[in-house]
Amino acid sequence: MFDNLPAAITIHEVGPRDGLQNESQPIATADKLRFIELLAASGLKHIELTSFVRPDAIAQLADAKELVHAVDALALPDDITFTCLVPNLRGIETAHALGVRHVAVFVATSDRLSQRNINATVEESFQRLAPVMAFAQTHNITVRGYLSTVFGCPYEGEISVDKVVNLSLRLLDIGCYEISLGDTIGIAAPNQVREILEALYRAGIKPHQLALHFHDTRGMAMANIITGIEMGITAFDASAGGLGGCPYAQGASGNVATEELVYLCERMGIATGVDLNQLSKASAFMLGCLGKESASKLCRVLAKN
Ligand code: MG
Repeated sequence: MFDNLPAAITIHEVGPRDGLQNESQPIATADKLRFIELLAASGLKHIELTSFVRPDAIAQLADAKELVHAVDALALPDDITFTCLVPNLRGIETAHALGVRHVAVFVATSDRLSQRNINATVEESFQRLAPVMAFAQTHNITVRGYLSTVFGCPYEGEISVDKVVNLSLRLLDIGCYEISLGDTIGIAAPNQVREILEALYRAGIKPHQLALHFHDTRGMAMANIITGIEMGITAFDASAGGLGGCPYAQGASGNVATEELVYLCERMGIATGVDLNQLSKASAFMLGCLGKESASKLCRVLAKN
């Protein structure tokens, strides 16, 4: 066991977007900016900033333009990749006009979740993506694909592995460079992670085309991440301090804390490039703004040191 570990992994920090999006309390743009600056100082090289949704859809992200401008003005090291989520053509046009070079798009495995989240079926969301992908190609913008509810859906229950394989192949086919497989309700278990990854590999998808996005709602995130690592996955999404509750389980934790991912990897001799103490400062700052404690045990320990 553990004889085939990678030398390093890539962390996609989703706290400023996925994390804050699920926090109901409004955060000032200046505080988001400070948070992003602290995250960058910790050594994180991939940070998802915000989402270009309609301001009335997610009030927390209504300052997307202002925030992207402000991050630009910080002149942070240019080896940091900043990503913005774009739901449609208008979103990517706005992002492009602001100089954004990397975007993420979103597709769910279930029609019911998709309709609730973006008012489109899975098929309709692919239709919506066609002009987005064309625009990205024309303007040399990289596109990361989120596939959500891969391990189970709050409305449809179990999702077939074939469906996950098909949708992943389609996302790669339309031009996504990587698919982030999301455990939206934090329900996955290691055997299921193995089963789904094996099916994706059999379909010809390579480990480097995949990332894993686990939620710690049921405390399974670390076990699932280790399984992913053993299966050759080297890209993981995480949120500093575990920010972002679970929209499907009131009061439960959502995104796995970046600190836990960093701690796990560093203890196992896998490089992350992230300084845990610096990262902890970023989380402490934002948790302070929100007036709450992290749901992560590790984050609580770090906060006391
Ligand atoms: Mg998430």
